[in-house]
Amino acid sequence: MDLRKLILVLTFLGALVPFANTFYASYTVQRQQLMDATLDSNYAYASKLAKSTEDFLQASQLQLAYTAQLLATQMDDVGRLGGEATRLRMMSKSFNSITIFDATGKVLATSPEALGLQGRVLNSEAVKAALREKRPLISAPYQSATGNFIVFINHPIVSPAGQYLGAVGGAIYLQKENILDRLLGQHFYIDGSYLFVVDRQKRIIYHPDPQRIGDFVENNAVVDRVAAGESGKGAAVNSHGVSMLAGYAPVASTGWGIVAQRPQAATLAPLTELMQSTLYKALPAVLLTLAFLLWSARLISRPLRLLADGARKMDDPASAGDIRSVKSWYFESRELKKAMLMGIDAIQKSFSKLREDTATDPLTQLGNRRRMDDALRTFESQANTFSVISLDIDHFKAVNDTYGHDAGDEALRCLAQCMREACRAYDVPLRVGGEEFLILLPSTTLATATRVAERLRRAVEEMKIPKVGGITVSLGVANWPQSSFDIEAVLKTADEMLYASKRGGRNRVSVRPSGSDAASVRGA
Ligand code: GH3
Ligand code: MG
Ligand code: MG
Repeated sequence: MDLRKLILVLTFLGALVPFANTFYASYTVQRQQLMDATLDSNYAYASKLAKSTEDFLQASQLQLAYTAQLLATQMDDVGRLGGEATRLRMMSKSFNSITIFDATGKVLATSPEALGLQGRVLNSEAVKAALREKRPLISAPYQSATGNFIVFINHPIVSPAGQYLGAVGGAIYLQKENILDRLLGQHFYIDGSYLFVVDRQKRIIYHPDPQRIGDFVENNAVVDRVAAGESGKGAAVNSHGVSMLAGYAPVASTGWGIVAQRPQAATLAPLTELMQSTLYKALPAVLLTLAFLLWSARLISRPLRLLADGARKMDDPASAGDIRSVKSWYFESRELKKAMLMGIDAIQKSFSKLREDTATDPLTQLGNRRRMDDALRTFESQANTFSVISLDIDHFKAVNDTYGHDAGDEALRCLAQCMREACRAYDVPLRVGGEEFLILLPSTTLATATRVAERLRRAVEEMKIPKVGGITVSLGVANWPQSSFDIEAVLKTADEMLYASKRGGRNRVSVRPSGSDAASVRGA
């Protein structure tokens, strides 16, 4: 896991979670709104139809009451009864058939006459109740004598003297085309909405599917409530297992329950479309935001990434350059970069100090053999000609013995200072042994080096050293490539010349002229 991935994960979450949450919240709110609206409209619709049905039943009762009053004085006139039955059926269009019967239940007249009931005594529960109660009644649905599944509405016929003469009744054939179809059946929506009516026993008395009429509805909370006389709205699952949003209301006089319902899926169909188009509209902005996040995550993480890469190879001398080129455009990366560059600088400084220290003689601060090797390597690689002056203090043991080791050390320091003063900036004075010294003189001929050696010899001779007084040195000079093409051999020659000076009486300079085997010794 690197910073860029971390930023990406965080910002993706930060951007997508609120978006998804808003999307979900808007979905649930709108879903609830749609469902509430459907429930409300179904409830209003069921209530309105319950009222219309109630009005229809009252009007039917009035029609029957009118006929009953008309016939109260004409019960003997069978032709008149038949005529009135036909008139009532044809004019009101409320009933599929009309039956007039006397106080014993014997049928006096019917319309249509083809029913063939004339003279028969009816013994259905509805007729028995009518004869018993002698008042206007609306029956529960039942199978009639003619085999129809009907609702029977009747009105008593009472003579002017108050004697009960029988009743006039109208039947609604529930399974045939009837007044309820006209009243309720015109509202069939293409989206699967429909309406049905149950009686108190939860038996279907009206349904757009005629097959269902007469069925009892079980396990339906909405039907349970409307059959109990309640009105309201709620969700229910129909006999096909479809979730419906229903409104329901009872018809007061009969206890019938009217249920108007619409499939929940049909209600929510526009929501899916709405959410899809919301998603499509929001998508470009979301994609742009994500692209911007990708870009800025890269921009933020890049300096730290490059600094981390630099930190991993801080021992590489090129790393300082790499780190310096990192574009650190914000505070933290700028500070890190600064700190790393300072760190690298400090490391490199202490490296070069260390290198300097290991190539320096602590007593005299002259270079040591390591410095000598470095310098010779450089001259060799650059094919730079150079001369060598080798020198050794004369009778130094005696100095130590006479004045002590500390005084000897002081003499060594004074000699080193004297050598430094005799050197040009690019000459390399070295302490290569206890009291043995060397000077490398680049681009210097043997003759010039010999003059430098002689000048140094004299300077040492004239030098005053605390306690010790004076010392002398013996020197040998050689040149590359005048003395030899081999650098080792040149150093050896300088040493040989130094010993030649010793042999020659010390405090002198020896040099071997080219082409000669003998040393030329000059000095005091
Ligand atoms: P010669 O003229 O032949 O060179 O005689 P010499 O006495 O100088 O002989 P040699 O060069 O062999 O003696 C070296 C002496 O230098 C021995 C030692 O006491 C002394 N010496 C070497 N290193 C140091 C040092 O670091 N400090 C001091 N004080 N003396 C040193
Ligand atoms: Mg010596
Ligand atoms: Mg010596």
